Amino acid sequence: MQRITIAKGDGIGPEIMDATLTILKAAGAQLEYDEIEVGEKVYLSGNTSGIAKESWDTIIKNKVFLKAPITTPQGGGYKSLNVTTRKFLGLYSNVRPCMSLHPFVETKHPEMDIVIIRENEEDLYAGIEHQQTDEVVQCLKLVSRPGCEKIIRYAFEFAKQYGRKKVTCFTKDNIMKQTDGLFHKVFDEIAAEYPEIENEHWIIDIGAAKMSDTPEVFDVIVTLNLYGDVLSDIAAQIAGSVGLAGSANIGEECSMFEAIHGSAPRRAGQNMANPSGLLQGAVMMLNHLGQNDVATKVQNAWLKTLEDGIHTYDIYKEGISTQKVGTREFAQAVIANLGQKPQKLAAVNYENGQALNLPKYVRKPQAKKELIGHDIFVHWSGTDANELAQKMNTIGTSHLKLSMITNRGIKVWPEGFSQTFCTDHWRCRFTSAEEKAISKEEIIILLQQCIQNGIDTIKTENLYQFDGKKAFSLGQGQ
Ligand code: NAD
Repeated sequence: MQRITIAKGDGIGPEIMDATLTILKAAGAQLEYDEIEVGEKVYLSGNTSGIAKESWDTIIKNKVFLKAPITTPQGGGYKSLNVTTRKFLGLYSNVRPCMSLHPFVETKHPEMDIVIIRENEEDLYAGIEHQQTDEVVQCLKLVSRPGCEKIIRYAFEFAKQYGRKKVTCFTKDNIMKQTDGLFHKVFDEIAAEYPEIENEHWIIDIGAAKMSDTPEVFDVIVTLNLYGDVLSDIAAQIAGSVGLAGSANIGEECSMFEAIHGSAPRRAGQNMANPSGLLQGAVMMLNHLGQNDVATKVQNAWLKTLEDGIHTYDIYKEGISTQKVGTREFAQAVIANLGQKPQKLAAVNYENGQALNLPKYVRKPQAKKELIGHDIFVHWSGTDANELAQKMNTIGTSHLKLSMITNRGIKVWPEGFSQTFCTDHWRCRFTSAEEKAISKEEIIILLQQCIQNGIDTIKTENLYQFDGKKAFSLGQGQ
């Protein structure tokens, strides 16, 4: 028996959770439950996180959490429980299968069967934002080697486990050479360890266009947090099955499984909601727990039920559906089909599944790191970069001299274009002509000179070489 934590959530949550648990029980899942309260009631009791301290203890003790959707109250101040859970529990991998159930659920992409594996903890979602000048705010995009290695290895292991043929990586590394570049580089390194699985890389813009148009050419897709967020909603929508999709959030110790839809408050308490999304989450959970035989049985019974045309209101269609049913009746139909396989839709067999081989991240030896320059970001309300260059040229050390000014990343000095629009946020780059290593004392001297000359510095960045390779971006046009 495996003890897991469940939360019935809000709106249609309790009904779809009851339906799901009834199916799991009938299928012989070896599960025991601790139920916790999350969501609206907890939020409205004054707890802005939507979850009590004792509930965290239960989740951490049981490690596996099946969660029904919750209602986030309107108005500010309430933190997203999903984002908090992912970050607190280190749930680095978000797995969302998006498959067509044609002809039983309408879609323009009858052959589509993809799984989107989205990095879940870093990228722009680190939530590190600052206003620096009157005109400019920034959001820090953090991408780490452990973050990339963990999610990319997960994608290949997932592909291996589920007999998938190809893993595609989506990035924008033609523009973000450091952050997305690292993701792509780690992808190439790890792909080489899985010669039996095809691999490819697409630039995200054209890749997303291709996925929206011809999703059947993709299999497993692995990508960074923000791209994955957008792509996975598009994929679920074009599969025709937003209400039928589940997702898994996997960490090194804990995991959370859920439907991708919300709490649909208008449908609550009417025995109308489709429990399929949460059931799909539960099937992924059974596989994760190694109860692959039960997962296979439930999934095939579910596919057979949809194929029989037994549909809840949201997917019911004259001519395709045979019976419009409520939440409980749908669950009973799935139970009646346990042990059967679909005839037209492809039956699944997870029974030979092994646990995914996900080794803990091992830190690499440190590279030789040399400081070779410094970027000083300046708040300045003028418009002529030559004027700022004159001001900045009054500062410097025997090594460090002003070599470039950019505005929003575009080189405006030396030899800027008068047409380039400039904000009040300027980056002044100081480098040594001989590209020699410099000391941190020299940076302090630069900053002191800025104060003495009335230059408003808003932030600084060190320019490093790692193992002799420049590890910072050039100015656009440099
Ligand atoms: P929603 O997903 O709840 O509903 C969108 C539409 O889909 C509605 O018309 C709804 O009736 C329908 N629908 C959704 N699930 C269905 C199901 N299982 N069966 C039949 N029809 C279904 O999105 P929303 O209306 O934007 O959000 C409602 C609430 O849910 C909000 O408070 C939102 O914050 C929350 N939400 C929670 C989660 C989560 O807990 N993971 C995710 C998304 C939204």
